[in-house]
Amino acid sequence: MLKTYEKVPSVPIKTCTISREADRWFISYKVEVKDLEPGCSLTWMHPDVGVDLGVKALATLSTGKVFEGVKADKQHQAKLSRMQWLHRNKVKGSANWKKAQMQIARLHRRVANLRKDYLHKLTTYIAKNHSFVTIEDLNVRGMMANHKLAAAVQDMSFYELRRQLEYKCKLVGTKLIVADRFYPSSKSCSKCGHLKKSLTLDERIYHCEVCNFKCDRDLNAAINLWKYAFTTESSSG
Ligand SMILES: [Zn+2]
Repeated sequence: MLKTYEKVPSVPIKTCTISREADRWFISYKVEVKDLEPGCSLTWMHPDVGVDLGVKALATLSTGKVFEGVKADKQHQAKLSRMQWLHRNKVKGSANWKKAQMQIARLHRRVANLRKDYLHKLTTYIAKNHSFVTIEDLNVRGMMANHKLAAAVQDMSFYELRRQLEYKCKLVGTKLIVADRFYPSSKSCSKCGHLKKSLTLDERIYHCEVCNFKCDRDLNAAINLWKYAFTTESSSG
């Protein structure tokens, strides 16, 4: 006999997993849902969109919409390191030590849930509001080997973001296009097509030396990704 906090849907459940995070138990299960036909969502508003994933903003859309990422992340990290320091300085195995350990696990869970929730909102928004979505092909395996904590967390977000976009687009009938890894979305001018020789990470504004076009760097990249769907033959991916 199992009592759940939320109602379990009345459809056949395929598989079921029970897991524990900190002091809470979770149950997750798989159910079968049918894919929708293309054009079922609100795609008539902005049928095509390019999505640039970045460090400054998590996602910049060619429509001008920006998803900054979880705002409280830095505060949480600071709090977490403080709690970890306190934990280290308690007598190992003592009641206070155990209490601190549980507090750390709870904060970890809270931060992870905030991020997960944010990514779900972002990917649902993108999949539901557009019928063609172009993203960059990120080198996920190379990224996972990143040892810097902040960068690694960012990589995980990108990886998870793509995973969610893949299944959500399929679900609502939106076509997800993955741009070639060598497509220069950042270095190209989205107005005249000029390709810059170099663009450093701290150059936040894209300034084209040929047509004098000035644009937020991430937005310029997103517009180029948006154009990718029209300009290449390989858009069937
Ligand atoms: Zn230009």
